[in-house]
Amino acid sequence: MNKQSNVQTLLDIKNLRVWYKTTRGNAQAVDGIDLTINRNEVFGLAGESGCGKSTLAKGILGMVRLPAYIESGEAIFYRSVSGSSSMGVDLLAIPSGEMRRLRWRHIAYIPQGAMNVLNPVMRVERQILDAIYEHSNMSKEEARRRMFECLDMVGLEPAVARMYPHELSGGMKQRVTIAAAVSLKPELIIADEPTTALDVNVQQVILQELKEIREQLGLTLIYVTHDMAVHAELADRIGIMYSGLMVEIASAVSIFKNPLHPYTQGLIASIPTIGGDRSRMTGIPGATPSPLDWPPGCRFHPRCPKAMEICRQQPPVMREVAPEQIVACHLYNDGMTSEEQ
Ligand code: SF4
Repeated sequence: MNKQSNVQTLLDIKNLRVWYKTTRGNAQAVDGIDLTINRNEVFGLAGESGCGKSTLAKGILGMVRLPAYIESGEAIFYRSVSGSSSMGVDLLAIPSGEMRRLRWRHIAYIPQGAMNVLNPVMRVERQILDAIYEHSNMSKEEARRRMFECLDMVGLEPAVARMYPHELSGGMKQRVTIAAAVSLKPELIIADEPTTALDVNVQQVILQELKEIREQLGLTLIYVTHDMAVHAELADRIGIMYSGLMVEIASAVSIFKNPLHPYTQGLIASIPTIGGDRSRMTGIPGATPSPLDWPPGCRFHPRCPKAMEICRQQPPVMREVAPEQIVACHLYNDGMTSEEQ
């Protein structure tokens, strides 16, 4: 279904549920996400392992295979059509042929362990050029020019084009996957923990390159990682997930300076600091519950230091409790306290 839209919204996710069939019932990994991604922003998707963020990233693109399946929801992608107008398509309802046409040209996905998705028996140039030929009408000459531009953007020498993946370091392979992802100037890139396996120095350089590419191409980036330090570096806005749900969405500044949800506060308190007073890191007690059996009421209540009676019975709903800061927590049912403001 197509419809005209506000150009500022690039992606509008409504009530998205991605579940896994298991012999013990449905694991409700993503369990009703509403989220709007704005054009040209970097949106950081955060939360502990097992909170559902990678499943959400794949679910948005309908890239789930049994035993995972889309239980419900929409992901309306407003692709540019001409000038300042855009056209909305539901990524979860379009035929696979149309989705293939959107991939690379309009949306690129960098998966977890992207370094290992390169074909070991194909030179780098073949892997990038094949993607360009398949998804665009560029001539051979234009495609090669574009490939070298993209390699340069990620700090790789032209000679890398003639190499095989085994001749590259982990950081170089990751850069090749990023070069391939940006080769057709997509409007949206979804990157799922692309730098987690790399050492900190290489990670830092690649994050800097991603920032520059984003500014240069004006693309929108959804960046998935549990690493809050990476979000501090890269994100404009951050969504915090817990137990298959979004629990707080706000600007990166608000998330780090004034986190409102007790889970977000726990994540921020778990980030080690180099300067400042020495203090014991508290972390978040307990473990993420099983998606086969979420706790009733607020799913965070068994681990929450501020849990109240209502929390054990009623699930909190997302509400805006500060400008553009949306939180699902009963502490804010009557707005913010003076302590938090
Ligand atoms: Fe804690 Fe209750 Fe807020 Fe959940 S709703 S985070 S249990 S205070």
